[in-house]
Amino acid sequence: MKNSPDRNLQFMMKAFRWYYQRYSERIDAPSSLENREFGFTFFRGKGMIRHVSFRDAEEFRKYLVEKVPQHAFYSSAYYRFPSAETMDEKEWLGADLIFDIDVDHIDTPCKVYHDSWLCPKCGASGRGAISACPHCGNENIKRKTWVCNTCLSVARDEVIKLIDFLLNDFGFSQDELYVTFSGHRGFHVHVESEAVRSMDQDLRREISDYVRGVGLVPEAFTVQASPRVFKVSVDPEMPGWHGRIARYLLFWLLAADEAEVSRVINPRKLRYFDEMKKALEKTGDLSVVTFSRREISKILEIIAEKEGVKIDERVTIDIKRLIRLPGSLHGKTGLQVYKISVDELENKDVIRASAVLGDRKVRVMLKNPPEKVLDRIFPPDFEGVMELPLYLVAYLIGNGAEIKVLDALSSVFY
Ligand SMILES: [Zn+2]
Ligand SMILES: [Zn+2]
Repeated sequence: MKNSPDRNLQFMMKAFRWYYQRYSERIDAPSSLENREFGFTFFRGKGMIRHVSFRDAEEFRKYLVEKVPQHAFYSSAYYRFPSAETMDEKEWLGADLIFDIDVDHIDTPCKVYHDSWLCPKCGASGRGAISACPHCGNENIKRKTWVCNTCLSVARDEVIKLIDFLLNDFGFSQDELYVTFSGHRGFHVHVESEAVRSMDQDLRREISDYVRGVGLVPEAFTVQASPRVFKVSVDPEMPGWHGRIARYLLFWLLAADEAEVSRVINPRKLRYFDEMKKALEKTGDLSVVTFSRREISKILEIIAEKEGVKIDERVTIDIKRLIRLPGSLHGKTGLQVYKISVDELENKDVIRASAVLGDRKVRVMLKNPPEKVLDRIFPPDFEGVMELPLYLVAYLIGNGAEIKVLDALSSVFY
């Protein structure tokens, strides 16, 4: 089967035009619109058009409807002259604080069902996600990656952890932050608050390190009882990492699986460890728990991994970044960059919510789709004709699946 690149491109262009003509009224312009820089790419364009700015929401929406961008971005920064061409001329006034949580940075159990790789150096290939070729060690791997609802729920759990840090450790209020599904492989969390605007990169790095659990030191939760014995000094009610560490330790000590315990506790000390656990079960008081320095360091590694948030720290540190425009469509997926309130986060079906191109059935010829993609499962090695909802067709085309639309485009987009 041969793809028809031009027809598939036309399908995407028509789908995007259809969307912006109907929905642009519902797209909120970013706050302080006149101080933001915008950047766009277009289906037949080359590269990004930057330094775009708008005077008001009307002008902004008109642009989307008329130009139909493939990808739309705006600056997390505020500028006095956002359409000036150099950073100096723009005059930076401040920036929102942005966090990026991306499936690429998280191990998920489903990647083996939808991701594959090829090593151009030795020709090896396989399924799942790898960082280097297992045969020759080459790190320059060609990857084909997809996303499914399992990936997204793992990423969403990271967002929920992050929100806890932002509300409870940093004291932001719910209405100073919002979350977007990026329309592809993750989520963005935006903090729009006077308190963050003028922060420089160093401060943003501190915040990033804090939520990632970088630099947790043994002194943070123990006191030295003797040269080789450290006594736990935190309790679950404490704010910040102290409480997080205490809560994890309680869980770990009372319910941890043996494999994990044996990674931390010296085997010769296991009897003593069991006695300590019994004392803890009786009293619930963590101060009966002692560790060696080596054990503490290992536990801290585990806690940072489990309780720290997996963000792309470069995004948080960058004060001049362009970020996806909420309400726009992601050019590779046709899914909407969907804005979610903190309250909705736990229960919202983000794939459903962002599938704004809708469920209208489209007949396609399809070959070798991934076994699991978005909320859909395909039979292995499928090849043939299928009726699929429009949003999924756009998603498959955008991600480079072998797919051919059989219906007349004029009957799909009327
Ligand atoms: Zn190789
Ligand atoms: Zn997945």
